[in-house]
Amino acid sequence: MRSDHNKFPQTFLWGTATSSHQIEGNNQANDWWDWEQAGKTGDPSGIACDSYRRFEEDFDIAQKLHHNAHRLSIEWSRVEPRMGEWDSEALRHYQQVLKALRRRALEPIITLHHFTNPQWFSKVGGWENPHAPMWFERYATKIAQILGGDVEYWITFNEQNVLCYKGYIEGEWPPGKRSVRAAYRATLHIAQAHIRAYNAIKSVYVAGGWKVPQVGLAQHCLHAVPSNPSSWRDRFAAWFRKFMNNYFFLDLLQHDQYAWLPMLLGFGGKMKTLDFVGINYYFREIIQSAKWALHPVSLAGEVDTAHPEYVACKKNDLNWCIHPPGIGKVIREAHERYQVPVIITENGICTHDEQLREEFIVQHLQEVKRCIDDGLPVFGYMHWSLLDNFEWSIGYSPRFGLVAIDPTTQNRTIKSSAWVYADICKNYELPNARDKDKIS
Ligand code: BGC
Repeated sequence: MRSDHNKFPQTFLWGTATSSHQIEGNNQANDWWDWEQAGKTGDPSGIACDSYRRFEEDFDIAQKLHHNAHRLSIEWSRVEPRMGEWDSEALRHYQQVLKALRRRALEPIITLHHFTNPQWFSKVGGWENPHAPMWFERYATKIAQILGGDVEYWITFNEQNVLCYKGYIEGEWPPGKRSVRAAYRATLHIAQAHIRAYNAIKSVYVAGGWKVPQVGLAQHCLHAVPSNPSSWRDRFAAWFRKFMNNYFFLDLLQHDQYAWLPMLLGFGGKMKTLDFVGINYYFREIIQSAKWALHPVSLAGEVDTAHPEYVACKKNDLNWCIHPPGIGKVIREAHERYQVPVIITENGICTHDEQLREEFIVQHLQEVKRCIDDGLPVFGYMHWSLLDNFEWSIGYSPRFGLVAIDPTTQNRTIKSSAWVYADICKNYELPNARDKDKIS
């Protein structure tokens, strides 16, 4: 019998994260659909996991796997297919989704924006349009009214940093721009959109007399270290990479001691619009300064793929370097910097090797547990992802799911790693090395 200090808190949220476009299927009214039709992705998303129709089946699986929470996103282009026009069928659909989660005792964590924009929005300039924050606020208000009262955890944006980098600097994602100026404008408008949505959700709840909601966002956080610690150029490149990814955007929204940056960008006064920070953590990068350090795509550095630690580390199918201690690092740093509770909104691995996925889950959760033991307020872990799904520009080859999907029949098959995670969720406890061998 193990003692209770091995346990995660009884209030801990266990689950998986998904996003609308990656699983729902046939999201024909958003910018990604257009991008796919133009042949810019490995595969088109098509019917995806057909989860718009099969969500009950998916939630049955999550329940069977002892999850007590689930993160999903609302597809803006479905609920507002034309500017200012609401689709009542789509709104009803998401109400049904919420009920389906509640019936299975799965705490909903709702993301309002997970990379996709309605086509009407993109056509008028997307995030570069100064009216964008107002349109997003209107959408957030509508969703809060429709689902409100029954949702405690809201995430306004998923990974603004990835969206702006890939869409506006690298040009690999819609809108396919390569312009620092455009990225900067989009970033500021997304920050304003978050602030407006934060306040709007709170106001809707006050008006409804509902329990105060927690509003935050999900940020892609990486752990970056210099390739050569005695080179100032490598040290700067690693710091800059981390700062731009992990902190730049959050500093705009939760500033106090870091007020210099927001002030510089015209965000006056003190501001706190994050009730929690959602961390998406996948990998560590060993960074060397780039030859073209000032080129925006390099963000001052590049991954040193010849470094012995990079060569030696276990990698996922996309060659991302797996480094479980990194999740502890980013949790500690985010908490120290922003002084709010933290939730892991994504952490996962694309692999065909189930033993590797099992190790990945256990080892990352060990680090999360260490943070909790040290008194940090980490309140949940959402594994990415429940299902093998549409991985944006790459298409369907990366397998991040705990559950496999047969693309022709759409049949769901639970993988062995899902049961390892299920056991943890059920017991609020990690298997020790000996127990791990017993789990199957
Ligand atoms: C995104 C997901 C994506 C996952 C794996 C995160 O950056 O939020 O949409 O599928 O990483 O790449």
